[in-house]
Amino acid sequence: MNRAIFIDKDGTLIVDVPYNVDPELITLSLGAGEALRRFKDAGYLLVVVSNQSGVAKGMFDEAALQPVRQRLNKLLAEYGVQLDGFYYCPHWPHGTVERYAIACECRKPKAGMLLAAARDLNIDLSRSWMIGDILADTEAGKRADCRTVLIEKPYDPVIHLTDQNRPDFIVRSWHEATRVILARRAAQSRPFMSSTAG
Ligand SMILES: [Mg+2]
Ligand SMILES: [Zn+2]
Repeated sequence: MNRAIFIDKDGTLIVDVPYNVDPELITLSLGAGEALRRFKDAGYLLVVVSNQSGVAKGMFDEAALQPVRQRLNKLLAEYGVQLDGFYYCPHWPHGTVERYAIACECRKPKAGMLLAAARDLNIDLSRSWMIGDILADTEAGKRADCRTVLIEKPYDPVIHLTDQNRPDFIVRSWHEATRVILARRAAQSRPFMSSTAG
């Protein structure tokens, strides 16, 4: 089975421009390209999981998200990597576009996108990670049985931590996120010693 890094898009993989779907305005967050290169080298699939309530709000349609995906892959190509999956939730219960105005199972903090990706890409969720910038991301990761990293904004420190959303690690940069995840990966690849044996 595969291991994956699930990645929030807005404010995590890319600089957040609220409800933007113009490819020209998309730029990678500092250190994200290098980080994804290192995760790929370590054998992880790279899967974006993004809430896109702008669809339900009538601000853009689903088709507008394909150029976004292409732009991400173009930017990541400079680091020699491509996304293995791109999942989005177009829903929002209070939206104005009727068929998207539902309480779905995919909008984070629910785990639907991660579970769908796990089925599609044969991912072992217990050996995978979710990286995001808000607690809805880490809650979705925890619900999917992944480990979680929150990249905290200096101007937006995390509060309201609960048992449901508490990240395994809170870091301040992609560089630091890479370090904690790959350190755990290295530890796991050592021979397993059962603590219950004997
Ligand atoms: Mg975000
Ligand atoms: Zn949804």
